[in-house]
Amino acid sequence: MTQYFPYRDGCLFAEELSLESLAEHYGTPCYIYSRSAIEDQWKRFNRALKGIPHQICYAVKANSSLAVLQLMSHLGSGFDIVSGGELERVIRAGGDPSKVVFSGVGKRRDEIEQALHTGIPCFNVESAGEIERIAEIAQRLEKKAPVSLRVNPDVDPKTHPYIATGLRSSKFGIAMQEAEHLYQELAGHEWVEVVGVDCHIGSQLLDLDPMYEALDKIMDLVARLRKKNINIRHLDMGGGFGICYQDEDEPSLDSFGRKVKETLAGTGLALIIEPGRAMVGNAGILLTQVEFLKTAEEKSFAIVDAAMNDLPRPSLYDAWHDIRPVHENSSWPLRTYDVVGPVCESGDFLGKERSLRIEPGSLLAVSSAGAYGFVMSSNYNTRPRPAEIMVDQDRSYLIRERESLDDLLHRENLIPEW
Ligand SMILES: *Cc1c(COP(=O)(O)O)cnc(C)c1O
Repeated sequence: MTQYFPYRDGCLFAEELSLESLAEHYGTPCYIYSRSAIEDQWKRFNRALKGIPHQICYAVKANSSLAVLQLMSHLGSGFDIVSGGELERVIRAGGDPSKVVFSGVGKRRDEIEQALHTGIPCFNVESAGEIERIAEIAQRLEKKAPVSLRVNPDVDPKTHPYIATGLRSSKFGIAMQEAEHLYQELAGHEWVEVVGVDCHIGSQLLDLDPMYEALDKIMDLVARLRKKNINIRHLDMGGGFGICYQDEDEPSLDSFGRKVKETLAGTGLALIIEPGRAMVGNAGILLTQVEFLKTAEEKSFAIVDAAMNDLPRPSLYDAWHDIRPVHENSSWPLRTYDVVGPVCESGDFLGKERSLRIEPGSLLAVSSAGAYGFVMSSNYNTRPRPAEIMVDQDRSYLIRERESLDDLLHRENLIPEW
């Protein structure tokens, strides 16, 4: 992280560009991404899986900006999508549809049809009802549909309950036993071809043991299926690799690589992984400016121009994001602030009790904002969403313009009779 957003002479940079100059040029609030940070991370994953036939399918939902997808595509990445909209993004960014897997519990008919037309290599199916729907559409289009079942290995990922998805009580996936029955029913199906087994147990995993536990359970399932002549060609272990937001140790990708290499050796199985957060989370910051400092009886507040609508993770999950001053050595007194936005909600905060030397007009960088940041933003309080900028060494690109009020209002109608 600090490698891509370093302090130089007390000023915070994105690669070779000072955040101050970027704020001046593009205004605040804005998201800033480092190309090298994304690229290096993709290559780390790819290196860890060297020697195993594999495909990295970047989870588009973590950050779906076209330029980010374009970069992934240049690196040779595949994509994990959860909607027809994400498929459209991948294609418009130059991504290869033959490297796209389609996950999600509620695939609509039109989305399935779109994906079949595009020729994606795998639907990650989440229920018996979905198979029926896919089969019916495949038959109508006379296009055989490749599927994996997303099994629910019932392991506890020990992460935030909102992002744990692999427990039996979760809405995601199919219980192991039921999946085994479904696989048997699908054998020899005219319009559905079984190609793999899929799982995704949760997000922000700092300990990968639950993933290894899931892997072992899935390998047992694969062995049982193969005995019944059901030819499983790939395993998809999903995403969920955790990142450092504050002081967490990130799980070792090399250990992950070693573990799957050991487990898959001699099986002929290919591996798919779907990292999202770990690919882009620490490759982005949210740059914001202090509007006012306000001291109430108990607390001091730094009111900034970014808010929960721009970066909902702190209010939504109570998530921690480091907040760093763009100018490190200012002479302003060190105080403890709640860093809050202008939105009319008490839950509108970006960070609580942060020690900062700042004044009105100071710039702050909210760290680790590259994943589940802009993509979760909204227009609450009729706030146009921020610009997004990609930095590549000493060059910067406006990859998404700041929204205008016209953008926000142009689909609304007054009622003519009134
Ligand atoms: C969200 C999601 C991912 C990515 O999760 P990260 O924690 O961002 O790596 C991968 N696969 C599926 C099915 C998902 O729902």
